[in-house]
Amino acid sequence: MKRRIVLLGPPASGKGTQAERLAARYHIPAASTGELLRRERARGTALGREADAWTKRGQFFPDEIALRVVRQWLATCGTKAFLLDGFPRTLGQAVAFDAELLAHRAELDAVFYLALSDEAIRARVAMRITCARCGASFSVSLHGVNEGSACPACGEKLVRRGDDRPEALEERLAQHRRHTEPVIDFYREAGRLIEIDAAADRDTVFAKLCESIEEAVPA
Ligand SMILES: [Zn+2]
Repeated sequence: MKRRIVLLGPPASGKGTQAERLAARYHIPAASTGELLRRERARGTALGREADAWTKRGQFFPDEIALRVVRQWLATCGTKAFLLDGFPRTLGQAVAFDAELLAHRAELDAVFYLALSDEAIRARVAMRITCARCGASFSVSLHGVNEGSACPACGEKLVRRGDDRPEALEERLAQHRRHTEPVIDFYREAGRLIEIDAAADRDTVFAKLCESIEEAVPA
């Protein structure tokens, strides 16, 4: 059973949803850097304020901030089992994180990449509407809902996310190519990347992830 897991993927690859389902099925603590930093901001910690300052200047925060927040989280949940969603996001983060795990003799058991073509991403995002209250997302074509419909999960009005608008999406895709593709190559070259076709439906992707997680880890 693989228990130290990294889940990577471009926007709209279903990463967040799959991370949640895997965490629930295998009782593995899961986190994303975005969510961890939101919590730091909400609590008004020094780390949260520092991350905020970078975001306000319209810049990406340095690798060190992402590493610190992940390190802090691992200190609370331990390094026996964890699932990181969307981290490491840059090659610098991946290299530093690898060295830290090695020092703790807690190397990653699996690095998954949910692969999706740019065209498929654009098509998915064009159809996607989100609930601002509970964060659930729905597809106009698959779920028969539209902007302004009530969220099937909590009843709040569904909206289109600002970063799902076409220009914002192109920027996110460019960021992904620039920063995250080198991370994918890093794990691929090390023979540790497990690529999963994210174009399939959610349940098929989840089944493939489960199958791979349940394969024994080589001793
Ligand atoms: Zn909702």
